[in-house]
Amino acid sequence: MRSWLEVSLGRIRGNFAAVRGIVGPGVEVMPVVKADAYGHGALEVARVLEEDGAKWLAVSNAEEGVALRRAGMHARVLVMADFLPESRPALEEFGLTPVVHSLEDLQQVEVPYHLKIDSGMGRLGTRAAAEDIAKAVSANPATLEGVMTHFASSANFDSRQTEEQIEHFEHVLAALKASGHAPRYVHASSTNSIAYQRKGAWGNLVRPGHAIYGYVSAAKGAPKAQLEVQPALSWKATVLATNTVAAGARIGYGGIHTAERPMRIAVLAAGYADGIPHRLGNRGQVIVNGNFAPIVGAVSMDLTTIDVTDCPEVKVGDAVMLLGEEGGISINAQQMARMAGTISYSVLCGINPRVKRVYVD
Ligand SMILES: *Cc1c(COP(=O)(O)O)cnc(C)c1O
Repeated sequence: MRSWLEVSLGRIRGNFAAVRGIVGPGVEVMPVVKADAYGHGALEVARVLEEDGAKWLAVSNAEEGVALRRAGMHARVLVMADFLPESRPALEEFGLTPVVHSLEDLQQVEVPYHLKIDSGMGRLGTRAAAEDIAKAVSANPATLEGVMTHFASSANFDSRQTEEQIEHFEHVLAALKASGHAPRYVHASSTNSIAYQRKGAWGNLVRPGHAIYGYVSAAKGAPKAQLEVQPALSWKATVLATNTVAAGARIGYGGIHTAERPMRIAVLAAGYADGIPHRLGNRGQVIVNGNFAPIVGAVSMDLTTIDVTDCPEVKVGDAVMLLGEEGGISINAQQMARMAGTISYSVLCGINPRVKRVYVD
């Protein structure tokens, strides 16, 4: 294989259990498996989560929900960002639960739904006045099953944005209650609000994504994260060739690396088309037999060159690690993201489908 992921389903299970342990039995945990479970493989991940008792799964669009149903998933599925007219027949046919984002959409929903309030994120959700929201809910016979919002700055405890969002959300909830509406679920928290224990924002359902895959973002001014999770995937690539180059030789597109000494280069069978950030050219690193080896030269579409001068035993056919733990050292998606000037979410979701997913315990 050129390049592959080893996804530990045991770690996915462990991370799910850790989230459940933190929020306790009074709060339902709805793992987010959108974007192919952040690159981990939605069907395989959803299957073990369901086995371990997940009653709800969250996806982004109807197509992702339909794929879960076609694979035999029975959990409730919340479709968070797709109430497009063309998606509505599938939502109904496959028993998917829509999130409604506007009062106009609210007039058209005919199945039990969750209503999203924009409490300050400035993205999806209704920004209507609380009283108008309550009126619109009353005017529609479909069941308001959940009310939700999403935070913009949940890892930043130096900002008051989350408190302001919670205040707005509670104001809307109070108006709904005053009009006689008692939605079964109230939810606002993704990984950060769970890990950094904003218990006031948990409601009775939480929506962790990142944590399920083993990550919690670093926070500003926060108490230490209480949640212990472990990255569920490692990423490997095969050495296609090794070459010795003389001092002064240039490596790869643009000749952006010049060998300062005679160097041994290994060529890896993965590039930016596989999801290795192009920005890692001349600045990233990988793990070779338990040692760090720097990426030298530009990352190409299908190939990446690394300096293995100090790892003389590497040969064609060996596997090197792009993400993972080996010999007491590790590179995780957050570290790769930092080197590439991006975020771990983008690194994980950017791993191309052509990178084979292999499932391990
Ligand atoms: C993606 C998403 C989540 C999960 O966020 P994480 O930070 O990955 O835990 C939760 N809620 C909504 C609305 C989302 O879009």
